[in-house]
Amino acid sequence: MIKNLIQRIKNLDSVRKRYLGFTMGILITFFLMLTIVYIVQIGIYERKHAENSRNQLLDIKREVITDTVNNTITSIEVVKTNLEETYKSRLTRYTFNIDSGYDLDIMMDFLSNEEINSDILSLITTQDGEILFQTENSKGYEKGLLGKDLDQSFLDVKSTSIGDNILYAGVLNETIKDEVISRMRNRIYNDVYFEDAYLWINEVLNYEGGDNYGIRLIHPNLRDTEGSYLSTNMTDIMGTTPYLTELTGIRESGEVYFSYYFKRLETDEIAEKMTYAKLYEEYDWIVAMGVYYDDLEEYLATTTKLSEDQTRESLLILGLTGVLLLFIGLLVFFKLEKDYYNKSNIDLKEQIDTDELTKAKSRRAGMKRLQVEFERFVTTGENITALLMDIDDFKKINDNYGHDIGDKVLMNLVTRINNGVRDSDTLYRWGGEEFLIISKDSSVDGLQSFITKVLHLVEKSDCRMDNSSILVSSSIGATQFKKGDKSYDDLIKRADDALYQSKRQGKNRGTILI
Ligand code: GH3
Ligand code: MG
Ligand code: MG
Repeated sequence: MIKNLIQRIKNLDSVRKRYLGFTMGILITFFLMLTIVYIVQIGIYERKHAENSRNQLLDIKREVITDTVNNTITSIEVVKTNLEETYKSRLTRYTFNIDSGYDLDIMMDFLSNEEINSDILSLITTQDGEILFQTENSKGYEKGLLGKDLDQSFLDVKSTSIGDNILYAGVLNETIKDEVISRMRNRIYNDVYFEDAYLWINEVLNYEGGDNYGIRLIHPNLRDTEGSYLSTNMTDIMGTTPYLTELTGIRESGEVYFSYYFKRLETDEIAEKMTYAKLYEEYDWIVAMGVYYDDLEEYLATTTKLSEDQTRESLLILGLTGVLLLFIGLLVFFKLEKDYYNKSNIDLKEQIDTDELTKAKSRRAGMKRLQVEFERFVTTGENITALLMDIDDFKKINDNYGHDIGDKVLMNLVTRINNGVRDSDTLYRWGGEEFLIISKDSSVDGLQSFITKVLHLVEKSDCRMDNSSILVSSSIGATQFKKGDKSYDDLIKRADDALYQSKRQGKNRGTILI
C-alpha cells in the first residue's frame, strides 16, 4: 500500500517532467507555427492587394482600350457615310451641270482631265450603245456603268444626254474605301493615346486564316509594313500565335481580348501587351488597340507600398497581442498546475504518513521521525522519550466481541491519546495493536507519571457493548537514545525489551529502560 503510494509520487514527478517537456515542445512549435503563419499571411495579403490593384488597373485599361476601339469604329462609320454622301451629291452635280448641247470633243477633253475627275468613271455611248469615249479609269467597268441595276462595286451611277449621245458617270465603293483608309490613317497617326498604347487596323482577306489571311492597313508604329500580308501562323517572341488568337476570337464573337509579347516602342525590351480587337464588318477590318501590362507594375509598386506597410504593422500587432495573451495564459496555467501538483503531493504524502484505520501517524512516519531525532541526538545531544505500547490481551477482545469492535477500540484509543497528550507528543501506529509515542520531553523525572497518564488514557478507550463494557489496558516500554546507539533500531530494541518486561510483570504497567 505505502509502496504503491511512494511509487505514485515518483510516477507523478516523472509524468510532470515529461508533461513540462511536452508543453514546452508544444509551445515552441506553436511559436514557430505562428511565425510561419505570420510570414505566409503577410505574403498572401501583399499578393492579394497587389492582385486587386492590378485587376483594378487592368479593368481601367481594358475599359479605355475598349472605348477607344469602339470610338474608332464609330469614326470609320461617320467618315464613310459622309464620304458617300459627298460623292453621291458630287456625281449628281456632275451629271446635272453638263449641258446636252456640249460639243463632244470638248466634253471628252474635260472628262480626260484626271486632276478634276480622277474619282469619277465616265463613259459616252451612242443611242445604240456603241462606246464613243471612256476615261482610263473606267476600263474594265463598262458593264457596271452601263448596267441596268446598280453593280455591287459602285456606290452610284448616273447618266445624262449630250446631244444624241449618253454620258454615264459612276463612283466606285473602292474609291470611298481608299479615302476612308487615308483619312483614318491620318487621324490614327496624329492621335495621341495614353501611355504606350496605340491603335492599328488590319483587313481580313480570308476568315479561315492561314498565310495571307489578312493585310496590315494602318499601323502608326510600323508604317513601313503597311500593306504587307499577315499570317495566322506568325508567332510572337514567346511563341504564341496572336493573329490566330485574334482571328479565332473575331470569328466567334466579333471581338476579343487577348495578350501577346511585343518589342517595346523605342527599346528592345520585350513586354506583354493587353489587346482588344473588334471587327468592322463592312470593310472586314479588325480595329485593335494594345497597351503594355508592365506599366502596371511600376504604378503598383508605388501605390501598394504604403498599404503593405500598414498590413504588416497591423498583422504584427495582432501577432504580438496573440503571443502576449498566450504567454499570460500559460503563466496562469503553470501557476494553477503547480498549485494543484503541490496540493496533490501534500495530500499523497499525508496519506502515506497516516494510518488508514486509526488516522494516527503511520509506522513509516514514525521511522522517518526516529531517523531525524537520532541524527539530532548524535549532532546536538538533544534527546527524546519513546514509549512503545502494546494492548493487553487484544486477541481476547477480538475473539469475544469481533474484529470490528477490536478496530473500534483501536480508533477510540488513538482519539483518546491524541486528545490527552501534549501537542509535542506524537502517536504512531507501530503495528497491529502496537503504538509508539515520541515525546520531545526527555526529562526522566516526569516519565513515570507520563506512563501512568497514557495507561489511564488507554483504559478509557473502552467500548460499551450492550450492558457490559470492554476493559482495555496496555503495557508500555519506555526508553531514550543512549550514547553508543548505532541507529534508532537500538532504541526500539530497548523499548521492546522494556515492554516485554511489563508484560511479564503482569501487564497494565510501564517499564523504563534507560
Ligand atoms: P498480549 O497481552 O500478550 O499482547 O496479548 P495479545 O492478545 O494482545 O497478543 P498480541 O499482542 O500478540 O496479539 C495482537 C492481536 O491483535 C493479534 C491480532 O489479531 C490483533 N490485531 C492486530 N491488528 C489488529 C487490528 O487492526 N484490528 C483488530 N481488531 N485486531 C488486530
Ligand atoms: Mg501485540
Ligand atoms: Mg497485545
